[in-house]
Amino acid sequence: MRTPLVAGNWKMNGSRAMATELMADVHAGLSGVSGVDVVICPPFVLVPQCSQAACGTSVAVGGQNLDTHEPGAFTGEIAAEMLIDAGCEYVIVGHSERRALYGETDELVAHKTRVAFTKGLVPIICVGETLEEREQGVTEEVVTRQLVAVLNEAGSEIFPRAIIAYEPVWAIGTGRTATDAQAQDVHALVRERLAGANSAAAESTRILYGGSVKPQNAAGLFSQPDIDGGLIGGASLKAEDFLGIIRAANS
Ligand code: PEP
Repeated sequence: MRTPLVAGNWKMNGSRAMATELMADVHAGLSGVSGVDVVICPPFVLVPQCSQAACGTSVAVGGQNLDTHEPGAFTGEIAAEMLIDAGCEYVIVGHSERRALYGETDELVAHKTRVAFTKGLVPIICVGETLEEREQGVTEEVVTRQLVAVLNEAGSEIFPRAIIAYEPVWAIGTGRTATDAQAQDVHALVRERLAGANSAAAESTRILYGGSVKPQNAAGLFSQPDIDGGLIGGASLKAEDFLGIIRAANS
């Protein structure tokens, strides 16, 4: 039995005032919700504030990225130790925006996964194909390649603690969601590939779906057998929408 998890990725959005209000609203809206793990991933500068607001609640906090080095002369970067010190339990690695806009390769994402896990963070590892790749019919190859890079570098023992997020790039921030069946097909593939590496862990590893999840489409997606919650971008910035998605995962 896998406990569903819903994680909000605020991306480069927010302010101290917004974080105060959103954290309070999410916390208040979670009373009566006990069957879902909830994670908020704010921009780095808001992590300490969100961690403080989450203290004593059922909400956990995560980073959106990390650097692979030990603390030192790496201007502008954030080490795993710093995320932990600021109150993070999770960290997103390999988000498609980092892959596409900041040149993160499969190897770097795999390295970040290993470092995050070794230091004690739960990595939320993003995989997913672009629209072009889907249209070329290579979704399976792309997702397998991204996953195998992680398995080779970080080992299959990181599962089931580590989490995978399948995020078709064409569905992120576009309002265009994968159908329940399209998402389930890839989630089943991911679980099958994981089982090939670690059959004991595959059944209990959580695989999240991400890509324009809204309260209106969440229930259908989350009812699929291999979808264990969501990684939510835009809709995590509105308490009402984020809570609607969490409730869908709880039912
Ligand atoms: C994301 O950023 O991981 C994401 C899924 O964004 P959105 O929900 O806005 O598509």
